[in-house]
Amino acid sequence: MDKIDIKSMTAREIEQSFLPNFIESFRAKQVYGWLVKGVSSFEEMSNIPQKLKDFLNQNYFIASVKIKSKKISLDGTIKYLFELYDGQLIEAVVMKYNHGYSMCLSTQVGCKMGCAFCVTGKGGFARNLMPSEMIAQVEAAGKDENIKISNIVLMGMGEPLDNYNNVIKFLRLISSKDHLNIGMRHISLSTCGIVDKIYKLAEEKLQLTLSISLHAPNDEIRNKIMRINRRYNLKELIDACKYYIKITGRRISFEYIMIKNVNDSAKCAVELAKLLKNMICHVNLIPLNKSDIVEEFSPSGKAQVYLFQNILEKAGITATVRRTLGKDIEAACGQLKGKYKEAEGKD
Ligand code: SAH
Ligand code: SF4
Repeated sequence: MDKIDIKSMTAREIEQSFLPNFIESFRAKQVYGWLVKGVSSFEEMSNIPQKLKDFLNQNYFIASVKIKSKKISLDGTIKYLFELYDGQLIEAVVMKYNHGYSMCLSTQVGCKMGCAFCVTGKGGFARNLMPSEMIAQVEAAGKDENIKISNIVLMGMGEPLDNYNNVIKFLRLISSKDHLNIGMRHISLSTCGIVDKIYKLAEEKLQLTLSISLHAPNDEIRNKIMRINRRYNLKELIDACKYYIKITGRRISFEYIMIKNVNDSAKCAVELAKLLKNMICHVNLIPLNKSDIVEEFSPSGKAQVYLFQNILEKAGITATVRRTLGKDIEAACGQLKGKYKEAEGKD
C-alpha cells in the first residue's frame, strides 16, 4: 500500500483518516500542529505516544525538499535548487522587499506549455508537485535563512493552472489561520492563459492577485511565441479575464515581456491599449531575461520600453517597468531550469 502524503492534508482530513483506527480527534490536531511547525519526522512529535508514531510511520509520510544548492545574488536575492523525494530537481527564489520576504515557488517539475522565450518551457515536463512539496519549499527557505516568508508568488517552474487541484489545496492550506497564515492578498498566481481554469478559479473567489502572461497584443504574435494561444486565443483569454474581474472584483496584472523586434513596436503598444481598454488592470513590462538556451530573442532597449510604457499610460492604462532581481545568478523570471536528468524530465 502506498503511504499517504500527510502534509498535503488539512487538520479535518487527518482527523477523518484517523477515524477508522479509533484515534481520538485531538491527536489529529496535535499531529497537524507539528506538521505546520515543519517537523521532518514523526519521531519529533514529542507529545505523541510511540504506538501512534509507529502507526504514522507505517501509513503516512512527511514530504520534504532538500537544498541541493543555493546561490546568493549581489542584490540579496537567493536561488535554491531543491531535490524532491524522487531525485527530481526544482528551483525557487527568495527576494527581500521593504515589506518582508517574498518567495517565488515552483508548482511543477518543468512545464508542458513550451513558451518560446522560457528556459523552463524548453526543458519539458516531468510531473506535478503535491501541495506538501510546495509547502516544503516555503519551510526549507524559511528555516535555512531564519526568516518568515510573507508573500508568495507562483511564478517559478511550471504552470500553476495545469496543476489546478494541488495548487488550490496548497493555497487554502497556507492561507488558513492554523497554518502559515499567509493571507490571499499576499499571494500572486501567474498563468500563461489556460482559459477554462481561469473561469474555475474565478468561482473559488479567492482574494489572490491573478497575473496573466500576455506578452502579445494580437493572435499573430502570440501564436508565434506561446503555444497555449493556439488552444485558447486572445479573445477567449480576455473574455475570461473580464469574467474574473467581474466575479472577484480584483484587478488583473498583465505581464508583458519586451522582446526586441517581436512585440515591442509602438504599433503593438497601441494595439495592446485597445485590447485592455476599460479593464481594471495593470500592465507590468518586463525586459526579456536572456539565457543561452533561448538564444533567438533579445531584450528591447530601454528607450523602447519607456516609449511603450508612455503609449499605454497616455491611453489610460497603468503600466510599470518591472525591476528584475537576481539576474546575475539566473534567478530572474524565465531563467529557472532545475537540472534535468538525462532520461527523466524530457518526456
Ligand atoms: N507558467 C506561469 C508561471 C511561471 S513563468 C506563467 O507563464 O505565467 C513566470 C513568468 O516568467 C511569466 O510571466 C513568464 O511569461 C515569464 N517569463 C518566462 N520566460 C521569461 C524570460 N525569458 N524573460 C522574462 N520573463 C519570462
Ligand atoms: Fe511554462 Fe510559464 Fe515558462 Fe510558459 S512561461 S513555458 S507557461 S513556465
